[in-house]
Amino acid sequence: MKWTTRTIAGITLILLFSSWGFFAHYRINRLAVFILPKAMSGFYKSNIDYITAHAISADKRRYVDSTEAPRHYLDADHYGKDPFRKIPQNWDDAAFKYTADTLDKYGTVPWTIQYNYYKLVKAFKAHDTTAILNTSANLGHYVADAHVPLHLTQNYNGQLTNQTGIHALWESRLPELFGDHYNYFAGKARYIDDPLKEAFLICSTSFKSVDSVLRFERILNKSFPADKKYVMTQRGKRNVKDYSPAYCKAYQTMLKGMIERRMRSAILAVGSYWYSAWVDAGQPDLNKLIEQPLSNTEKTNIQLEENAFKAGKIKVPVMTDAEKD
Ligand SMILES: [Zn+2]
Repeated sequence: MKWTTRTIAGITLILLFSSWGFFAHYRINRLAVFILPKAMSGFYKSNIDYITAHAISADKRRYVDSTEAPRHYLDADHYGKDPFRKIPQNWDDAAFKYTADTLDKYGTVPWTIQYNYYKLVKAFKAHDTTAILNTSANLGHYVADAHVPLHLTQNYNGQLTNQTGIHALWESRLPELFGDHYNYFAGKARYIDDPLKEAFLICSTSFKSVDSVLRFERILNKSFPADKKYVMTQRGKRNVKDYSPAYCKAYQTMLKGMIERRMRSAILAVGSYWYSAWVDAGQPDLNKLIEQPLSNTEKTNIQLEENAFKAGKIKVPVMTDAEKD
């Protein structure tokens, strides 16, 4: 890749508005492991660090593959009022109605979920450990992205309503500040009958919250003292302007647990997609695919983490970028 100014600007944009921040993606994939049935959980637990670390691989691909970006969103409002009544769920029907280029331009996340779902079924059938792990991690990423309301609108960063920066505020800054106090447990993985229909349901549910996400911040911005809205903080070696903790707290309060609920639903959906793909593949014996069994210490730590998650009080180890690379 040639490092032109445009490339660098592009990467900066990707980093700013990629999808759930890294923190939330790690956490969603990781906790989804704990809602799987026994026949699956041994394999997933023995690979839990891999599944966690690769929760953001799909975002990293955007740096090198220009066709990757649209897989993370669906600009539903491009299709007018009540878009989920208009967009045909079947790809061919939708492409016939709008053209494939239009679908690509305005985002393909529900179809990407469907595509990766069948890829996972295939990987299970083939007993292909690497493909199972990579596809599970990627599928988890896309399912999580579909839970973010701002991934369902053309106004994804508030750029059309003078609220630029709201994307990272909602999906990165708030979960990072408050995510250790969320209750993430919503029960066991369940079978999804129709992976595409479910993906559209997730998208349409997220879309319903777009208005609140933007409106609450607009109201807050009007009432909050302007000189207290931002602070300068250190990020890496740079000093950057970011929303102040007080502003974040006020916004978090106005959202009344919305981020917590979207993350909780994402965890349930990710585990349910993995589980359903395994069922559709004929429930292969995953214990045979465990290459490196967990040590006793690892087992104990993971058990403690699982117990905490199920009790609704989680403090999960979250990898930093430095640890990962
Ligand atoms: Zn993403």
